Amino acid sequence: MTLFQLLAEGSDMLQRSGSPDAQNDARQLLLAAFETDMVHFLLKRMQELEENEDSRSRIRLYREMIERRRSRIPLQQILGCQEFMGLDFYVNEHVLIPRQDTETLVELVLEEQKDPEKSILDVCTGSGCIAISLAVKGGYPDVTATDISEEALKVARRNAAALQCDEQVHFYQGDLFGALEQRAGRTFDIIVSNPPYIPTAVIRTLEPEVRDHEPLLALDGTEDGLHYYRRIASEAGKYLKPDGRIYLEIGYDQGKAVSELLTDAGFFRVRVCQDLPGKDRVVCAVWPGQQEACPESLLS
Ligand code: GLN
Repeated sequence: MTLFQLLAEGSDMLQRSGSPDAQNDARQLLLAAFETDMVHFLLKRMQELEENEDSRSRIRLYREMIERRRSRIPLQQILGCQEFMGLDFYVNEHVLIPRQDTETLVELVLEEQKDPEKSILDVCTGSGCIAISLAVKGGYPDVTATDISEEALKVARRNAAALQCDEQVHFYQGDLFGALEQRAGRTFDIIVSNPPYIPTAVIRTLEPEVRDHEPLLALDGTEDGLHYYRRIASEAGKYLKPDGRIYLEIGYDQGKAVSELLTDAGFFRVRVCQDLPGKDRVVCAVWPGQQEACPESLLS
């Protein structure tokens, strides 16, 4: 038995089960099971594997992983990791797998908020990918992150420790801002969030990897997909400093609706920003400063 034969076997099985990226997935699972990289794979792929317990257990592991992938468990959950902003994040079935789309939000904050002293709040942190990459890449010393799921927070804390920013990022469990109840009166310079925003009826049309294996809690934005934006827009002002900023990831068709929610809640300078393929992806806005908050009669 050679690595090449194992790759062909796994790739064929995934292909037959309708897996979308069979060859690539089989290759990644093979490299993981044999704890090797592409260079060593290419060098050794035609060599007979040694007949020993180590090879046998790696082959067994590889075949088990192929079986799991055949049942459409996401590759990232099988491998236990996903790259985001050039960092490796541990993931499991309790968190949304970080998406490249979400890098748009992180990059925008890094570009516009260069003062490293700014305090940041990330609500619905999931794997912690937004909070942690802002802490690592932006050097912000004070990042607070919340999630309703204790299981998700375990993943986020593990990621913060692995990426050596557990002194910068603090996690609290609770429903959106409710997680901060114990810290009443605490305000932030910046609020970021990628809340669940998929309309409930759309969820059943998604790929089985997402629909059946990613946490519904992290996807479901209720009937019109806007439930969490409504709540965030109406509550965020209480947690922002004067002149504070909000950055929200949105679905490609939610720019107008989310902009209106923020405007109605008293935010101004509302902008919709696009991701690399040109789709609406982030809405950002400014919370009034001392001056804007003053009624005009007091300013004159
Ligand atoms: N903030 C996390 C992410 O962007 C989780 C988002 C969520 O669970 N909706 O991936």
